[in-house]
Amino acid sequence: MTATLTLKPGRERSLQRRHPWVFSGAIDRLAGDPADGDLVDVHAAGGNWLARGVLNRRSQIAVRVLSWEPREQIDPAFWQRRLERAAAARAALERDPATSAYRLAHAESDGLPGLVVDRYADYLAVQFLALSAERYREAIVGALAGLLPCRGIYERSDVDVREQEGLEQRTGLLWGEAPPHPVPVSENGLHFLVDVQAGQKTGGYLDQRENRARLPAFCREAEVLDAFAYNGAFGVYAASGGAAQVTFVDSSAPALELARQNLSANRLDPRGHEFVEGNVFSVLRGYRANGRRFDVAVIDPPKFAPSARDVERAARAYKDVNLLAFQLLRPGGVLFSTSCSGAVSADLFQKILFGAALDAGRDAQIIGVLHQSADHPVALTFPEGTYLKGLICRVW
Ligand code: SAH
Repeated sequence: MTATLTLKPGRERSLQRRHPWVFSGAIDRLAGDPADGDLVDVHAAGGNWLARGVLNRRSQIAVRVLSWEPREQIDPAFWQRRLERAAAARAALERDPATSAYRLAHAESDGLPGLVVDRYADYLAVQFLALSAERYREAIVGALAGLLPCRGIYERSDVDVREQEGLEQRTGLLWGEAPPHPVPVSENGLHFLVDVQAGQKTGGYLDQRENRARLPAFCREAEVLDAFAYNGAFGVYAASGGAAQVTFVDSSAPALELARQNLSANRLDPRGHEFVEGNVFSVLRGYRANGRRFDVAVIDPPKFAPSARDVERAARAYKDVNLLAFQLLRPGGVLFSTSCSGAVSADLFQKILFGAALDAGRDAQIIGVLHQSADHPVALTFPEGTYLKGLICRVW
């Protein structure tokens, strides 16, 4: 028998709209003495069955809903069906010979709460972000092993959010053979070497794939700044589009080494480009002081606002770095600016860029809107799934 969780009066609305989370404050009572990680049937105060999900009292999100069907069993076949649906949604990517790295499963928005699966050619990288996925590791790995041609499945649950779920960080081989270092992948016909075992996230920032594809069109003979470059993905696209010189700036030396290798992997000579290890804020201030200018600037910072509490501080940091970028661009130059903070809305981000342009004394026009790539979908029932946004601006 599945245990029963009853909500406080009036707290059933979000579940009726198929939002997949029950916050701890919405719970009235639990019957059947379930342990964290067990399934519970969620009922409205009046007794109506609403949903079935995984209980975790250690988290603010006390239940993550797995099913809206009273008769649906949460068995290995359930995970198989959900993962097959996620894979079917990416069938065009799977067939595309130009791209072998993409997100196969995007958590809540794919009906797979707390589960992220990224594909890097013959290897899958998995993150169990919440107990709702952790609890079913074997069933999930079993289903993944048969889903696509695959040589190995590697766990990258080395993420802070697990602490909020009462889970420890974890990495290691789950199935098959360990991904070699590096794993060669392709993206829109370009080649990248990815560190699946120890790179940032699961190795790469796959969410920017469609945004990166828009960059080369602006780069012919341009001097390009790739700030927060990581493995140089944006800069490699810029160089492939005929940039005169790309300046890669990142605080991580291993990341810049990857950027060098990724240029070479595309027969682009790293010696024609510049690699600057340092803090973007101070490096760009130095450029401003020295009169250094660029034709194109990519500003792709890490998540400055991990939660809603950090929005004000994050807004100042986004404004600072974009102000510098506006000041460094030649008239007619192009800014690619993004934010991956879910707590900073697209609307707020546009206002931040507006403030930065105003303070820089520059005219700017929006000529493109950026967002997370299609393999990082947002379920309409789960607007929290939107996190990556950005603008392409022409700057005068
Ligand atoms: N543009 C990359 C992803 C960038 S992720 C892509 O498309 O794949 C953010 C990067 O910023 C990380 O590589 C991190 O090392 C770097 N970073 C974070 N804070 C920084 C700072 N203050 N100065 C320089 N680099 C920073």
